[in-house]
Amino acid sequence: MGQAKNRGTLDQRVAQAQAKLAANRPEKLVCNSCGADVTQINPVSTRGLRGLEAIWVGQCDCGHTTFAASGEPKAVEAFFFALSQDTELALGRQDKDGGGHDKAGD
Ligand SMILES: [Zn+2]
Repeated sequence: MGQAKNRGTLDQRVAQAQAKLAANRPEKLVCNSCGADVTQINPVSTRGLRGLEAIWVGQCDCGHTTFAASGEPKAVEAFFFALSQDTELALGRQDKDGGGHDKAGD
């Protein structure tokens, strides 16, 4: 106590966080819909999402959006669960009631 240690400015900390994020950036995602490589990947803010370190959203040429997330396994699971509840996002991660899929099984 009593020592006011300089931990860097907010800008420095933001830069550090961004550098860490960039280091974790996946080279590519695999489209959940058509299986193609998705290289157009953008970071999504994890602000307010406890346990998540990074979220990436990839936009495939086929128009499908594929997400990737890293962080605590439980947080990642909860994230994808939340996504699966969002019908607007129509994720390819639904394999129970996705009647429209023509996937020939794994
Ligand atoms: Zn695709």
